[in-house]
Amino acid sequence: MNQVPAITLNNGTSMPRLGFGVWQIPDDEAERAVGTALEAGYRSIDTASVYRNEPGTGKAIAGSGLPREELFVTTKLWNSTRRKWRRKEVLRAFEDSLSRLGLDHVDLYLIHWPRPMRDDFLYIWEAFEEIAASGRARAVGVSNFRPTDLDRLRERSSLVPAVNQVELHPLFPQAELRAEHARRGIATEAWSPLGQGAGLLALPAVEAVAARHGRSAAQVVLRWHLQLGNIAIPKSVTPSRIRENLDVFGFELDAADMAALDALADGPRAGRIGPDPAVCDL
Ligand code: NAD
Repeated sequence: MNQVPAITLNNGTSMPRLGFGVWQIPDDEAERAVGTALEAGYRSIDTASVYRNEPGTGKAIAGSGLPREELFVTTKLWNSTRRKWRRKEVLRAFEDSLSRLGLDHVDLYLIHWPRPMRDDFLYIWEAFEEIAASGRARAVGVSNFRPTDLDRLRERSSLVPAVNQVELHPLFPQAELRAEHARRGIATEAWSPLGQGAGLLALPAVEAVAARHGRSAAQVVLRWHLQLGNIAIPKSVTPSRIRENLDVFGFELDAADMAALDALADGPRAGRIGPDPAVCDL
């Protein structure tokens, strides 16, 4: 069994540095995929209400027989369904997620996007403060927040998000945002850590590092994340890849390997894959 190291979040909660992401896994496949991940040794699962697979994820958790305290479950508030959120609506959305998951608490609850054009995440964060105080989420945080959004939170609240989950991979390494997180005591969690697959993993620079270590491209990219201090949540529905993505604790990249992967940020393929948080209002 692979032992995944943990990071201590700013409220003392411990979070595995490698987890399993379930975006785009249909609910009726989620039970099998999450079950495979838990069997392989993953203890952290990243879902969201908008992924519509909280029920299948919850079934896999219940069926695993693992003690709840060994698991770290993240879900997210899909904050586009209302024009303006009120406290009780946030609390209801949170309770709905818990009930779909079949859990009495989650380990991390995130605001999915800042949606700055709506100008309402400060109200949502007030309800998140209440959820954090209740212990029904052991930690609360944000996703896709920019430094300017984090500034606005800081002006209004003394509760610093434990995590900011953002697009991050060698083609979009977010160096400035990572430094900003470090200054503020916020853990950096990388979504699409593999750049969603082929576009990144088939690049010659990645393949060369992989060949040097006798490892797969996905494994060396995950090592890059871990050595930078990121939390990574790769997704796969293929059992062999689910296991492969966890088997990244028996080797290390050296400075030249890290530099070769860092250099992709200046190459022709560099850039975001997903939406820009400044304008995203899906
Ligand atoms: P990812 O970078 O994890 O890539 C997943 C894809 O890479 C797979 O579908 C598969 O095609 C390929 N892959 C996986 N393992 C492989 C391997 N070992 N070898 C070769 N190919 C492999 O992309 P993702 O799913 O977009 O991101 C991971 C997770 O991040 C999501 O499942 C979700 O939980 C989270 N996420 C969050 C947000 C957000 O807004 N907060 C947005 C996107 C994703």
